[in-house]
Amino acid sequence: MKGRNLLMIPGPVEFSPSVTEALSRPTDSHVSPSFINTFGEALEKMRSVWMAPDGYPFILAGSGTLAMDSAGSNLVEQGDRVLVISSGYFGDRYAELLKRYGARVTVISAPPGSVPDMSAVEDELKGGGYSLMTFTHVDTSTAVRVNPVPVGELGEKYGVITVLDGVCSVAAEEIRQQECGIDVVLTASQKAVGVPPGLALLVVSERAMEKWRNRKSPVGNYYADWSNWLPVMTAYLERKPSYFGTPAVNLVEALNVSLTEILAEGMDARFYRHRRIGRGIRAALKSMGLSQIPENDSVSANTLSAPYYPEGVEGPSFLKKVAALGVTLAGGLHPANRQKYFRIGHMGVAAGNDLVSTIAAIGTALNSCGYKTDTGAAVNALIAEL
Ligand code: PMP
Repeated sequence: MKGRNLLMIPGPVEFSPSVTEALSRPTDSHVSPSFINTFGEALEKMRSVWMAPDGYPFILAGSGTLAMDSAGSNLVEQGDRVLVISSGYFGDRYAELLKRYGARVTVISAPPGSVPDMSAVEDELKGGGYSLMTFTHVDTSTAVRVNPVPVGELGEKYGVITVLDGVCSVAAEEIRQQECGIDVVLTASQKAVGVPPGLALLVVSERAMEKWRNRKSPVGNYYADWSNWLPVMTAYLERKPSYFGTPAVNLVEALNVSLTEILAEGMDARFYRHRRIGRGIRAALKSMGLSQIPENDSVSANTLSAPYYPEGVEGPSFLKKVAALGVTLAGGLHPANRQKYFRIGHMGVAAGNDLVSTIAAIGTALNSCGYKTDTGAAVNALIAEL
């Protein structure tokens, strides 16, 4: 009896009770020894969750777009060539953002549902002159997942800094930042990291820091400038007080709780659990006869799914019926086909009973919209994978 619907959108998601309890504690001073210790611990745990033991972690008050802005504004100078690998809406957003900082941007994109061609990426890099390359691990508009391994390899081969937008992937999809040689892995609190919206999180490699240190021009964004934040993060790691902008105290405390829970589950176990959940939801949707945006399983995200409405089912009325059954889902987002599909988030603490309720609500709502499907069979298809 939570007094509200089950939140199964691709962020914000359902949060663990200890995370919401941490948020409700009285707000501490941001320079108290206990908060400094919490902040320092959260930074250290980010290195473990990101699998980047030598990385520079940042916790900033802001949303995921600030994390994108932080990497973009600090790593780009006027006239730099940047390659954006776009698998949907958020890749296109990154291209726009980088142009604001004077980047000369080339976008390699793919139609909704597929991953941009890595040989086209390599051909472009061979042409030379690129200093930065960005990609979206899971594009939340298409539920397409890009394998970070070949992108990291190309970045290292051609000496190009790589930035992974992991807003819809970090702490759920497999990403081993240091092993993959990805220079920046960024995310936000409200998705698989399991904390309400309000924190922008990123871990930066030594190579990217070196590029930033060697800038010839000042960073074109005052709030995001790492010269303001790096001393603060370094101080907190050394358990010393520091100040540039007031941190989101309660959210940082909640983050420390959530990261502790994530590490207690174990990263490999967590990746595996999300793979099973992803497979289960896709199997249930398939059993209901719904086709999905990602063109095949190997490019499908495990953090969200994006099924098309069946013929004759109107999106707004279907989503309303699902909500009336106690489950909140999201509509489409990609401008090319946003009216034609919906999105189900299934990351973080989403458990078997949440998933069963979600599939049952989808099946029931489809039937009441006039599309006949066997809800029980769909639930069984889900459970078989869990
Ligand atoms: N990138 C991706 C992949 C996202 O899913 C989102 C949010 N849905 C963002 C960036 C932007 O994050 P925010 O809305 O927190 O600014």
